Amino acid sequence: MVREIVRFPNPVLKTPTQKVDVIDKEIKELVKDMFETMYHAEGVGLAANQIGVSLRVMVIDTTPKKESPPVKLVLINPEVISAEGSIKYKEGCLSFPGLMVEVERHNKVKVRASDLNGEEKEYELEGFPAIVFQHEMDHLMGITFIDRVNGLKRRLALEKYSKLQKQKA
Ligand code: ZN
Repeated sequence: MVREIVRFPNPVLKTPTQKVDVIDKEIKELVKDMFETMYHAEGVGLAANQIGVSLRVMVIDTTPKKESPPVKLVLINPEVISAEGSIKYKEGCLSFPGLMVEVERHNKVKVRASDLNGEEKEYELEGFPAIVFQHEMDHLMGITFIDRVNGLKRRLALEKYSKLQKQKA
């Protein structure tokens, strides 16, 4: 089922999510809905709190981004083990429709997370998939991409977003 995507400044986006204790039917349903919602919105990553569910779950599918090898993942209770390098990229966010912000991230991340079967796995992500992961990981911590830029850049991004919102109203 496609669910409604929560938009900034909804407080659920500012709230750190809770750890998942048991991967039950409800979590499996949530993950299925997250993929459907992400594909419907033509996104490449989605955090559970972006559909209003404050749990530490994210989905990624970078298939639409042709220049990097596709990465499709369900990450439950993800943790960063290590991160290195730096890369700048103009990011979009389904919770900020129409806004693009250049953010600096690590180029490589090593991640540990549970999959849908409750199995702990490690992943090494590089380039675009690493960017998507860090963007979604931020969501799970209650951080959005505008929190990753400072001063004038942040102010301009917020002004642009508020203009975009008014145009839609
Ligand atoms: Zn986002």
